[in-house]
Formats: sequence, structure tokens, C-alpha cells
Amino acid sequence: AKELGGDRFKVFTERMLDQAMQRMSLERDLRQGLANDEFFLVYQPVLRMKDRQLVGFEALVRWQHPSRGLLLPGEFIPLAEETGQILELGRFVLQEACSTMAAWQEQHPETEPFFLSVNLSGRQFSSLDLIEQVRSIIYKTGISASRIKLEITETTIMEDAENAVEKLRRLKNLGLTISIDDFGTGYSSMSYLQQFPLDNLKIDLSFVRLMEVSPENKEIVRAIVSLAHTLGLDVVAEGVENEQQEQTLRDLGCEYAQGFLYARPMPADDARRRMLETA
Ligand code: C2E
Ligand code: CA
Ligand code: CA
Ligand code: CA
Repeated sequence: AKELGGDRFKVFTERMLDQAMQRMSLERDLRQGLANDEFFLVYQPVLRMKDRQLVGFEALVRWQHPSRGLLLPGEFIPLAEETGQILELGRFVLQEACSTMAAWQEQHPETEPFFLSVNLSGRQFSSLDLIEQVRSIIYKTGISASRIKLEITETTIMEDAENAVEKLRRLKNLGLTISIDDFGTGYSSMSYLQQFPLDNLKIDLSFVRLMEVSPENKEIVRAIVSLAHTLGLDVVAEGVENEQQEQTLRDLGCEYAQGFLYARPMPADDARRRMLETA
């Protein structure tokens, strides 16, 4: 028995060591990846539900890792957030999204205004130079700030609640719009929410998924939409994959949608073409 316990301990420590090594190498790869331009953005269309008109895109980060291939954010954002590397990555994302918007605006000045959503991480939102960073990127790229929508999760806003009101106000003063992301996964109350200067609310895809499972879940989504409207916010549903979900969300009064039913995230050039088809 003692022998067995020893083995088990050995297996356990080996696994821990293995995980620590993987972490360390990912951390080092992230640093190199940032230096070597291995990150890029893809863009997923957001549509108006009543007529499926394209109204904007959400920018989503990807990593073309030199040996592991294409990595999705779930595989590196959590570690980047832990190590603080998310600050540099986040700056890249904002810079890249604004440059892309600037290029599109310059090449196609005749198109209808559409927005570009950028996800902000918790650390980025709490960082002291966020406002200055946003201001300077907007200024340097020359885009109109109203074209940029910042997606900040409900959890992030609640974690930094004392500073959040002031910070969001300053971002709004720069002309940006603000979206509360992954809504429904945090614990905010209505009275709390109304203090924050927000423009729209994104229903997390887990709710869109659950909606089909039971009538109770559909009622939860109905409540979220009605809460949003009471607060004067538009609602974007994410992860819409089929027409049944689309129909239900439309019936519930949800204004905008995003999901594989309409389009997957795509490279900048495809997004630009998509935008031109709409115009
Ligand atoms: P999110 O902000 O909730 O973004 C939506 C995610 O849902 C994206 O995954 C998108 O590809 C995926 N999605 C869209 N439509 C559908 C659908 O119909 N079905 C399914 N199953 N999925 C759909 P992605 O690109 O893997 O990003 C995952 C998360 O990583 C994002 O969730 C966001 O929290 C984070 N993330 C992505 N890009 C960035 C970034 O530039 N900065 C930061 N801080 N976080 C990012
Ligand atoms: Ca988002
Ligand atoms: Ca989500
Ligand atoms: Ca999210």
C-alpha cells in the first residue's frame, strides 16, 4: 500500500510539474508571439434582427502559433490575463481594430456607418492608462470614436464597480459606445446596473443555447431583454445558430444578433467585402 501511495504521489507531482512547464513555455511563447506579430484579428458580423442587415462586427483575437498552429482565445487569454501580458495583447487588439476601421473608412467613405466591437479584459479595464491609451489610438488612427464599441463583461464591471462608473463615463465622453458582455453570467442587480452609462447588453450564448431546452429558460431570456429595455439598452444575442433561436429572440424583442447562423468570424478582407455587399 505504501508503495502504491508513493507511485500515486510520483504521478501527481509529475503531472503538476508538467503543467507548470507547459505554463512557462506558453508564457514565453506569448512574449515571443507578441514580438513576432503572431496575433491577428478576425471579425464576426452583427446583424439587425428585423431585416438581417449587417450593422457591425466584433473583433476576436487569434494566435498563429509557430508550432501549435491556430489557437483560439480560450487557450491563451486566461494565462495572459494572469501574467499581465493581456495588457500588451489588449493594446495590440485595440490598435489593430482601429487601424482596420480607419482603412475601411478611407477606402469606402460612402458606406453606411457600422461599428466595430472590441473586447476589453478585466486587467485592461482596471489599468490606469486605459483612457489615455484609447484616446491616443483614436487620435492617431483618425477614426470617429463612435464607430468603436467596447465590450466589457458584467463580471469585470462588477469587480471594479467603484471605479467603473467614472471610467465608463470618461470612455463615453471620448465618444465610444459601451456594451455589457456575457450578460446573465454575473450577479448584478437592476438598481446597480442603472448607475453605469451603457449602450447595449449582450446576452451570453449559454442562454441562447438553454432557451430551447425549457420554457423557464426562455422566460429568463425574456426577463433579460425586458430589463435591458427598461434601462434603455439595446440587446445583442450571441451564439445564434439556428432559425428557431432567431425566431424566438426576435419574438422576445431582441434587436441584434450574432452567430454561426449568419456568419463565422472571418479575416479582415472578407469582412470588408461583406460590408460592401451590404452597402
Ligand atoms: P465572447 O466575447 O463572448 O465572444 C463570442 C465567442 O463566441 C467567440 O469565440 C465567437 O467565435 C463565438 N461564437 C460566435 N457565434 C457563435 C455561435 O453561433 N456558436 C458558437 N458555438 N460560438 C459562437 P472566440 O473567438 O473563441 O472567443 C472566446 C472568448 O475569448 C470571447 O468570448 C472573449 O471573451 C475572449 N476574447 C476574444 N477575443 C478577445 C480579445 O481581443 N480580447 C479579450 N480580452 N478577450 C477576447
Ligand atoms: Ca464579446
Ligand atoms: Ca459570451
Ligand atoms: Ca466574453
